[in-house]
Parts: sequence; structure tokens; C-alpha cells
Amino acid sequence: MIEQTDPLTNVTSLLSGNGVSRHLCGDLKSFIVTTMPIPWDLAKQRIGGAPAKIVFVDSMEQDRVEQQLEELPEFDCVVAIGGGQAIDLGKYFSWKRQARLITIPTVISVDAFVTSAAAIRINQKIEYIGNSSPNPLVIDYDLIRTAPNHLNIAGVGDLLSIHTAVYDWTLAAKNDQNQYQFHQKTVDQAYKILNSIIDRAEDIRNLTNQGIDAIINGYMDVNRVCLPLGHYRIEEGSEHYLFYELEARTGKAYVHGHIIGLGIYIMSHLQNNKHEIITNVMDRMGLKYQPKNMGIKLQTLIESLENLRKYVCEREDLWYTVIDKETITPEWIDYITNKLEF
Ligand SMILES: [Zn+2]
Repeated sequence: MIEQTDPLTNVTSLLSGNGVSRHLCGDLKSFIVTTMPIPWDLAKQRIGGAPAKIVFVDSMEQDRVEQQLEELPEFDCVVAIGGGQAIDLGKYFSWKRQARLITIPTVISVDAFVTSAAAIRINQKIEYIGNSSPNPLVIDYDLIRTAPNHLNIAGVGDLLSIHTAVYDWTLAAKNDQNQYQFHQKTVDQAYKILNSIIDRAEDIRNLTNQGIDAIINGYMDVNRVCLPLGHYRIEEGSEHYLFYELEARTGKAYVHGHIIGLGIYIMSHLQNNKHEIITNVMDRMGLKYQPKNMGIKLQTLIESLENLRKYVCEREDLWYTVIDKETITPEWIDYITNKLEF
């Protein structure tokens, strides 16, 4: 059943259930599809209807995306099927042509299906462009479960990050280092989202319908809290900054939730912030946060931790976190890296 949702979630309506994507497009007048080969193979028989064009993502560079846009026929609906990039391409086309957007995620490893802007590369740099909202967002549990489990479970990374990010925000307030007004009420709302995710740890590990719902609702609730504030400080802090440093220096791509999990592991320890408890949660969920899961070598992580303070100081757009407060010593780096698996 289609459910109307709070506009602040950035999801105009939500359709969820086993098999709900079946025959979904049979009645659509004229629509195009943005997708990739694997999700399209899974979805094409299910959704029904005849798309006016199927656009496969081959690059998110703006020049290429604009070229694809120019080649599109007339349409009144975009159906975006797949992971982050396929969804973002659909969001971009829908925004540019002011057409209805239907999103059908086939994996929930990233939150592209609830964010309004599309991640587009301009001169190698990712920019967030446009404004769109799915109507409906289609959560077909069976379809999502066809993706590898560890990728779907990675979707919790940007929700468990509340644990370390809220600590950083509170720390900034205590040290008079806040760009944003600090609200205890917002912190309470954030912990409520975090706890509702933790309560579903076993469902998330097993990717039951309730586990998938917990992740989707978590993302929508984060929007509900953050969109009126105009910032995502409750879910982005030092755990993300470690990832930014690693990515900038190594140039490697990581599964977002996995690398954020590593950030949560390390930064919760530096914060002296219930490290064992949050680590236990990640283990119960089966989140793959160990360096060995991402091909990160011991020496690479040591260099990141050594460079981290300097990196965040040079980036003026980053907020005050535990990285500014606590000195990362060679002894501590030795200690923390000894606890991890490479
Ligand atoms: Zn993130």
C-alpha cells in the first residue's frame, strides 16, 4: 500500500512490501529508466510496461550526464532502479525535466534514495546538485535481498555514525567551537534513531523485512531531524573525517558503510565513548568494519592516523571533533591498530 509520508523525510510517498515492484510500471504512460546491467536484469521482468528509453550509468561526470539528458525522448516519469549512482542519475533527470520520480533501490548500502540532491562529478570533484523527492520510494524486500548481504548491512554505517557524531557535536558545544546552535532536543532525537536501529540488530544481520524497514526509517528520520536544521551534524563527525583522509590520500573507493564502521570503531575509542558497546553492536549486525575487509594495509592506516589532525585543520569546511581535542600519539596508534585485523 502506498503511504503518504512527512514531507520533511524527503520521501513524498512510500510503497513497501514483498514483491511490490511487480507490474508497477504497467500503467505508466511514458517513462524512462535509469539503471545498471545487473539491477536491470533483476527488475525488467518484474516492473512491467515498456520504457521509452533505458539509460545505463557509465559515468557520473556532468558532461556525460548532460549528453545523456539531451538524447532522451519525451517522458513524464523517471524510474530509477539500482544502487546509488543509478538512483542519482534518475534524480538528476527528474529534476532537470521536472518529471515525476519513482525510485526502486535494489540495494540499501547508501542513502541516495532519500536525499534530494544527486552526486555528480564536476572536474573530478563530487558536487551535490538538484532537488528531487521519490513518489513513491519503492521498497521491495525480495528485490533488495537479491543484493549481497554485506552491502545491504553496510546501510547501517551512516546511522550508527550517530554514536560518534553526536559525541563530537556535544564536545564542540562544551569547547565553544560550534558553528551551529547546539540543541539537547536534537541530540535526544538522534539517540532515539540510534537506539531504534540497535534494537533491530538481529533483524539487520538477517535482513528481515523489519531489518530493512529499520534502515529505511532510520534514514527518513535523520532527514526529518536534519533538513529543518540545514546540517547533518548528528550523523557526520570524526568517523567520517578518517574516511575523508584515507580516500584523499589513497585515491581508493570504499564501501561507505564499511569504512564508516572502521571510523566508528577507532573514534569511539579515542572519544572514550562506549567503545565496547558500539563495537558489539557492529559485530552483532555483521557490519564489515575490519581493515582486512577493505584491503587497507596496516601501514596505510598508521599513516592516516598520523596525518589526521593536520588534514582536518587544513580543511576549513570540517567541524570541530575529538580529532581537534585529543592528541593521537604513536603509542595510541600502536595500541588501536593492534586490536584490528589486517
Ligand atoms: Zn556517510
